[in-house]
Order: sequence, then structure tokens, then C-alpha cells
Amino acid sequence: MKWKGRRQSNNVDDRRGKGGAGQGIGGFNNPTLLAPLVKLLFSKVGLFIVGGFIIVSLVMGKNPLSLITQLLNAGVATETSAPYQPSAEDEELAQFSATILANTEDVWNKLLDNYREPTLVLFTGSVSSACGSASSATGPFYCPGDEKLYIDLSFFDEMERRLNAPGDFAQAYVIAHEVGHHIQKIMGTTDKMNRLRGQVSETEYNRYSVMLELQADFLAGVWAHHSQAMTKMMETGDLEEAMNAANAIGDDRLQKQSSGRVVPDSFTHGTSAQRMRWFKKGFDTGDLSQGDTFSATSL
Ligand SMILES: [Zn+2]
Repeated sequence: MKWKGRRQSNNVDDRRGKGGAGQGIGGFNNPTLLAPLVKLLFSKVGLFIVGGFIIVSLVMGKNPLSLITQLLNAGVATETSAPYQPSAEDEELAQFSATILANTEDVWNKLLDNYREPTLVLFTGSVSSACGSASSATGPFYCPGDEKLYIDLSFFDEMERRLNAPGDFAQAYVIAHEVGHHIQKIMGTTDKMNRLRGQVSETEYNRYSVMLELQADFLAGVWAHHSQAMTKMMETGDLEEAMNAANAIGDDRLQKQSSGRVVPDSFTHGTSAQRMRWFKKGFDTGDLSQGDTFSATSL
């Protein structure tokens, strides 16, 4: 992709190196911090300090344990806010992501009236969102509650190494897919889906979930179509990179990799073939009206 030197989005919330879900009490999981603390507590000095705390707390009318917890958390907070040093590679990925996000803004502002631009949150390790806290293992996701996309950039590395889906356009497809979920939120599709939860069987709900995911792939394709018309950013081999990624992250492929067997009823994203087909359909047509996966006779 010829992405360098283009506009980068301002809607990026860079939380890399800042922790997230792991803040506060979760800091106790940090073994390097815990060991010296335990040692200190059991030493004479420690007993003296704890005794001091209890007296101070009683004087201040506070629960001594909560005071100790507060102080420990203060220690944890300074520990995790040590300056984050991204590698040159990480920095390039961050700039790439901000550029692709800017490009999705340009495309969707053109296609939709009053487009509400989503925020991209970059994080490392864990993050809290309006949808709850998540770790990098969740993979990139979109939270309809706060209209933000969450990505730990190490996922791109994982795509390349573990899923065998390398390439910058494959990464752009992932971002565009999450933006696709944002388009679904704007169009009211996400709310419709939420109303279905609990009203239909799990198998049925999974079927709808596949339609939602395939539509996000279609919307990623629509983005690529218009992006190419506007910027000519794509190079030879880019489309194949996205198709290869869609192929690699199909439910059937992922299930086979993890459990060795495929259970279609539990699919929530669609098969590799379906994901490739809907992305391609969006890319070929660029026509939003072609993407109704919910009433398609066959997916
Ligand atoms: Zn998705």
C-alpha cells in the first residue's frame, strides 16, 4: 500500500503502555511487586509500618486495610506508568493505523450524511471499554457502547506469524472491518441484533452473528472500493492480502486450527469462503445496497 505521507486521523486514543483492566487491585497480580511487599510486611520494620498505619487509620476514622490498599495502589500506579517505549516497528504500525482510520473517515464521510467518526484506541496488554475489560487475546474489537475500535498492534504480528496473513492491506482490512461494525451501529443493525439476544436460540443467534460479521466484511470491501477510487493507495497483490486474511480468519479455519474439528452451528463470523465472498462483493460493487446479508438467500 502507498500509505506514507497521507493524512493521519486525530481520532486516535493512544493508551499503549498505560495498562487498563489491570489497574488498581489487579496490580497485586504483579509478582515482581508482590514478593518484596510480602517480605516487608513480615519484617520488623513492616510490622512497625503496619502498626503505624492502623494507628493513623484509627485516628483518621478509616478502615486500616483500605488505607493500606490505597497506598499499595498508588505504588502500583507509578509502577505501570513507566514511560512506554514503542519500537520503531510499533510506531510505524501506529502511524499506519491512524492513516487507514483517516482514510475510512474520508470514504464514509463521502458515502453517509452526518457520519459520526469513531475513535481508535491503541492499547498494549489489556484495556477497559464500555463493553468491559479485554486483553490482547480478544483480538481487535469494536465496542458499540462507546463507539470505539480497540486494537493491540501486536495482533498484526500474530496475523503474520500465527495466521499466516501478512501484509499492510491485510491489516487495513482488519481496521476497515471494525469500522464496518461502527457503520452497523450507526445504521441501527447492532441494536436490532441486541434485541434478538435472549429471544432466539443460541444456534439461531449465531446465525445472525455470522450475517453481522459478513456484512462488516462487505463494508470493509466497500471501503476498499471507494478508497481505491479516491487515493489509488492499493498496489498489486494488496487485494490478495485482504482475501488471504479473510480466508485465514474464517471460523472454520480457526476452529480446525484450535480443536481439529468444525462445528458450523457455533460459527459466529462465517466460513473462510463466505468472508472472502462478501469482502469481494463489497470491493467489486462499492454499492451499500448490495450488502444485506440478513435477507440474502445464500451467504
Ligand atoms: Zn467482526
